[in-house]
Amino acid sequence: MSDSQGQSTAEALEVWIDQDLCTGDGICVQYAPEVFELDIDGLAYVKDSDDELRQSPGATVRVPLPLLTDVADSAKECPGECIHVRRVSDQVEVYGPAAD
Ligand code: SF4
Repeated sequence: MSDSQGQSTAEALEVWIDQDLCTGDGICVQYAPEVFELDIDGLAYVKDSDDELRQSPGATVRVPLPLLTDVADSAKECPGECIHVRRVSDQVEVYGPAAD
């Protein structure tokens, strides 16, 4: 448990969307429909395994490990640069506009 360097895939991650920047193109929904959904307002929101959209600003859901690649690709391809994936432990963004 001493290896805290890098982006261990075993590390718990969470994801949130900045709806102020969302263009509503739905790319994230194509990549990971289990985690992202477009609401009737035309913007994307995160959702948990209960399928309930999290609509409060900055709301996060855990990234299921099997979906990590899809969620990371969503953050990379998001034209609004508004998908943020960060480590739960220290809140450091690992995918998204604030990641290096
Ligand atoms: S990919 Fe980004 S801009 Fe497009 S719908 Fe998803 S969150 Fe919004």
